Amino acid sequence: MRSSTLVRALPAAVTAALALTAGQAVAAPAAPAEHTAAARVVTYDASGAAEFKDAVTKGAAVWNESVVNVQLKPVASGQRANVRIVADDGWPRTASTGLGSGTIYFGRQAVDEGHNTVRISSHELGHILGLPDRKPGPCSSLMSGASAGTSCTNAYPNAAEKAEVEGDFGLAGAATLGARTFRD
Ligand SMILES: [Zn+2]
Repeated sequence: MRSSTLVRALPAAVTAALALTAGQAVAAPAAPAEHTAAARVVTYDASGAAEFKDAVTKGAAVWNESVVNVQLKPVASGQRANVRIVADDGWPRTASTGLGSGTIYFGRQAVDEGHNTVRISSHELGHILGLPDRKPGPCSSLMSGASAGTSCTNAYPNAAEKAEVEGDFGLAGAATLGARTFRD
């Protein structure tokens, strides 16, 4: 009789323990928010980009859908942007003042020669995001720039270029690049 009572009592104790565990699991946070790294936001001011404003928007969108560790957003009015984009009559070039900051000169010369404006935009933004030129190179490479010819309209970074930007802006990345000037 005694052992029979014990056997009958055990399942009840186990059920109670399981219910308690389940209750605690539900009460615990699903995912610790502090461990989720937010993408770094780099703001840009295209107010000086004249006829290339649309190309700037599209170039920024290309990067925003290509990487997660950094996102490009138009600066709010009254705020100082990390990046300025200005149109001029020279060759496109970027004066970087560090990772994620600087000035892009959206030169009309390359546009007049037939180079794709969105590719120019995302290429120069690539410099802002820390990428150097990789010339000469194929059209599949964004940083091959003008060396891929005027027939190249690819505005997307390849896998290696995306990985490099993710690394620079990732938690493990140094994220400290000095001022550099990219001629095109
Ligand atoms: Zn370049």
